[in-house]
This record gives sequence, C-alpha cells and structure tokens, in this order.
Amino acid sequence: MSESFRPETIIAGAGVADDPAFNSVAPPLHLSATYGWNDPLEKPQYDYARSGNPTRTQLENALAQLEGGARGVVVSSGMAALDLALNLVNPGELVLAPHDCYGGTHRLLTARAKRGHFELAFANQTSAVELKNAFAMKPKLVLIETPSNPLLRITDIRGIVALARECGAITVADNTFLSPALQQPLALGCDVVVHSTTKFINGHSDVVGGAVIAREQALGDELAWWANCTGVTGAPFDSFLTLRGLRTLFPRLERQQKTANDVVSALAADERVSRVYYPGLESHPGHEVAKAQQAGFGAMFSVEFAEGVDVIKLLRHLNIFTIAESLGGFESLVCTPATMTHASMTPEAQKIAGISERLVRFSIGLEHGDDLVRDILAALDKAAGTEEDNVAYLPEGAASKCA
Ligand SMILES: *Cc1c(COP(=O)(O)O)cnc(C)c1O
Repeated sequence: MSESFRPETIIAGAGVADDPAFNSVAPPLHLSATYGWNDPLEKPQYDYARSGNPTRTQLENALAQLEGGARGVVVSSGMAALDLALNLVNPGELVLAPHDCYGGTHRLLTARAKRGHFELAFANQTSAVELKNAFAMKPKLVLIETPSNPLLRITDIRGIVALARECGAITVADNTFLSPALQQPLALGCDVVVHSTTKFINGHSDVVGGAVIAREQALGDELAWWANCTGVTGAPFDSFLTLRGLRTLFPRLERQQKTANDVVSALAADERVSRVYYPGLESHPGHEVAKAQQAGFGAMFSVEFAEGVDVIKLLRHLNIFTIAESLGGFESLVCTPATMTHASMTPEAQKIAGISERLVRFSIGLEHGDDLVRDILAALDKAAGTEEDNVAYLPEGAASKCA
C-alpha cells in the first residue's frame, strides 16, 4: 500500500487481499517453519521462518509505514526490541539512557554494561544541565522514553536529537506509551523506534511482542541481520494476532484517551487527590512539549493521593480496574508502582525518581468513563475513611476479601 495514505487507511489495508494462493481478504496465518526450494541454487523469498515469514512481514511492513521508517523488525518482546537496538554499539562506546526508563530496560542496560558490552550513563533528560553534562561524555547511542513511566515526564525529542547529531550519536525512542497513532519519533528526527507491541499496538493483552523500526534502510537491514543472527524474531501466530489487534489502534486510542481525560478531570477536582500526572493537564510541566510533539495525550496517568488515603485499600476496593502490571489493553488496569512495577528500585531510588507509596498508576481501557469514575470514587470513600461503613475497622485479611 502506498505511503501517501493516512495511517488509518494503512492499518485497514495491511495485507488485505494480498494472498497469492486464494486472494484471502483477511491475511492468512503462515505457520510453516521452513520453505521448499525449487532448485538448490535458487534461494526462495522465504527459506526458514526465523529469518523471514510472510505473516511477520505483513506486521513489519505495517509498523514501518506507520512510524514512517524504511524497515521494521518484529521480535518476541519489548525487551528483545531494546536488546536488538543495543547491538548497534561496541564495547567502550557510551549508551545514554533516561534515569526513569522502564524497569526492565534499566535492568537490561545495567546487566549488559556490567558485562562490558558498552559504557552506560543515566540522566534526567528533562533537565538541561544534566543533558549538557551527559552529552559532554559523547554518547554513541541515546535512548529516549517519553512519556516516562510512571510520572509521565515529557522529553523534548527534537532537542535531544539535535544534541545527539552534534556528536554523531544514534537516537532510539521507546514509543510504547503512545504508539505511532499519537507520536512519531522518526519524523522528529530519531533514527530508530522501539515498541513493546504487548501494549497499545496489540491492545488485547494476549500477546507479548516487540518491534524495532529504522528510519534508514541500511540500519533496518543491520537490525534485521542481528534479529536473525540472535534468533529473537517474533512468532507467526503472535504476529497474526498483533496485526489483528493493530486494526483498531486508532479507534481504541481515541476512545481510551477521551475516557482518560474524563477520569483525570473528575479526580483532579477531588480534595483527596494531591496531584495528577497527566500531560493533558495545563499544570503538567511537559504540557507544551507534549502538545508540540504528540497528536494526543494518551490513556495513561498517575495519581498521588493525599495523606489519609490508604492506597492499598483503595486498590483492594476497585471493582472494574484489575490490579496488574502492563498497560494499553482494552481493559483498565491499576498498579502501585512502589510495590509492583518499580519494586526492584530501592526506597532511595524511588524517592529520587519521585515515586511515593501514595502513587497509583492507571491504564484506561474501553469501559465507560462514568463507571470508571464511580468505581474510583467509591473505593476512595472506603480508603479515605469518608464512608460510614468503613472496612478500615476490619482486620487486614478481611479487607482484602472485599476486593
Ligand atoms: C512493557 C514495556 C517494555 C517491555 O516490553 P515487554 O513486551 O514486556 O518485553 C519496554 N518499554 C516500555 C515503555 C514498556 O512499557
């Protein structure tokens, strides 16, 4: 399909009626591990499914077009996508990463650096002073993750790209939190985009997957070579499901983002809430940058509840939200980063990153916003002791059974 089409049209048309065997309208699932050769001297288009598979190619092409890249590589998870991109640096070269990147990314970077695969520095990429000091060390690869998790800090992608270009560094953006529907890092100057397709791209919480998309063909080919070499390429069935999930990316996000905004408005007005972290709020420090580089504010936000609110109890009393890690699915999820997603950080590190024990992260799904607001406010009544029939008087174990 031509690249001049709008992204919604690219998504609806990806692989449709493209099947040379039967002209299937919905793309078929090719599970074969290997492919026959007509002649030992004529390598076919597909020879072995680790190296290439028609189902995976359809997803790769769709994602590359959506991100405006030359080539996409679909891999087995978001972590595999990040690790694949790290093949672009040599021992001794410096990787510069955000201090508040995804926990798994932090662990991967630290573990690889410890083994001598590269040098590593973390910086608060929203701080001009820290960026100046970090770029003085001449990084070879700069990782960007915006909005960040769980505080939704916004990094100025164009600004970082300009600094990276001055020292010849490759820029890699983790675009998981927004998806290409709401942010296109390659158009803002980045060289590579990585995704955990587990999140918004698949959107149905039934696949763990990842993707890497390069702006230039040569870099995309290099990444594809490494993906085949290390064997991290994505499975056909996962690719099939992810392409199916991708079909509804725009309507899902449009709705989820609107609902997130409605829930944020309701919570921001409540006196039991001390702070809402959502880039759509004018009071958010990254609001203007977000407006300039995003097509929307997304469906993720975090809330710092006031003293006197027992957030553990709050979560136990939510009925619609499931207490779980992950995000971006059709179902609303909630977590306390301090005890869940970011539990591997020391209390000191959590404090530096701004993660308090009263912080709650929400991923808004496709339920009706009125129900979600009612669910949170009802749980808040119980957790803030503002409801007469208060379970706070029950012993710990009994309270959890009410959830
Ligand atoms: C979930 C996530 C990852 C890791 O992806 P997996 O598919 O779980 O391996 C990386 N980056 C971000 C921002 C994520 O949210």
